[in-house]
Amino acid sequence: MSDFPSPSRYDNMVYRRCGKSGIKLPLLSLGLWHNFGGDDVFEMGRATVRTAFDHGITHLDLANNYGPPPGSAEETLGRILALDLAPYRDELIISTKAGYDMWPGPYGDFGSRKYLVASLDQSLERLGLDYVDIFYHHRPDPDTPLEETMGALDFAVRSGRALYAGISNYPAEQSKEAARILRDLGTPCLIHQPKYNLLTRQPEENGLFDTLQEEGIGCIAFSILNGGMLTDKYLDGIPADSRAARLGDSFKSRLGDEAIGKVRQLNDHAHTRGQTLAQMAIAWVLRQEAVTTALCGASRPEQIEDSLKALDNLDFTEEELQVIDAILAP
Ligand code: NDP
Repeated sequence: MSDFPSPSRYDNMVYRRCGKSGIKLPLLSLGLWHNFGGDDVFEMGRATVRTAFDHGITHLDLANNYGPPPGSAEETLGRILALDLAPYRDELIISTKAGYDMWPGPYGDFGSRKYLVASLDQSLERLGLDYVDIFYHHRPDPDTPLEETMGALDFAVRSGRALYAGISNYPAEQSKEAARILRDLGTPCLIHQPKYNLLTRQPEENGLFDTLQEEGIGCIAFSILNGGMLTDKYLDGIPADSRAARLGDSFKSRLGDEAIGKVRQLNDHAHTRGQTLAQMAIAWVLRQEAVTTALCGASRPEQIEDSLKALDNLDFTEEELQVIDAILAP
């Protein structure tokens, strides 16, 4: 492990500007939702993060609840920072979030200022950092005034706990309103984190992408492989070392005959492009102008290396896009 980080780490990665901000993000980012918890093998997670950084993946995405157990993915990154990455802190964009259930009682969930600020302090402690680069509200809260939640993001930035504010899973109209409030507070919304992949098209159908472009907000698309379903790994059953095997029925229920039949056709089409299905699925997300970066998960370093090859062919002809749409038509 002596040649870390690679001196050529910036040679091949492309960076896109995040909305109308000063920040550029790599075309691929790495998320630590799965595979980096206290129940996972630390050295595997460490090797995955190192491989990512070695290839110019400068953005690592977390949330307070990632694990399991909740909070442990932040602790894992804290250890990796201490061992490997601390000297490179200024080369990294590290994000975290709060918005889902984190601790008992009325102040450990959703979108109050009380919850967001306390949660961010806990995240910083687990990470061993003075600040994160991006702090997100993880999901809309139907009961807390948007002004309070956005005020908490603004406070996080003004108090030095975060450099930028973001929102995740917000629908188009609410994103517009959140952006207006943040703009008025003087802390523009840097980025939105929606789910977007070949099988989940809502952001292009419900106006979210249009809103983000109008507002000058960047976009980091998550679950771009639909948790691994948009790869060739489930074409012949469920491998023992896969997420489906680990999660059991909640994931396996997605893998019915009809769904796998479509995945098989997508896989065949990917081969005509000289790509694996995972690579084509990533390229497809990145073809979308509103998307700044594709947020990958990975259970081992080889998956990062494989996914990076998506960047060798990001172009789709109109005809190809029609073929893909026809495969996925209901
Ligand atoms: P993906 O859809 O990218 O799925 C990742 C999984 O796909 C990996 O764990 C691995 O599965 C498999 N995989 C990855 N690369 C390859 C490859 N090249 N070849 C074959 N299989 C591959 O993303 P996630 O669902 O994990 O989400 C990614 C990130 O997005 C999260 O870590 C988190 O940061 C963010 N996220 C945000 C949410 C939000 O509400 N804001 C919600 C969900 C995710 P296996 O383990 O089977 O090897």
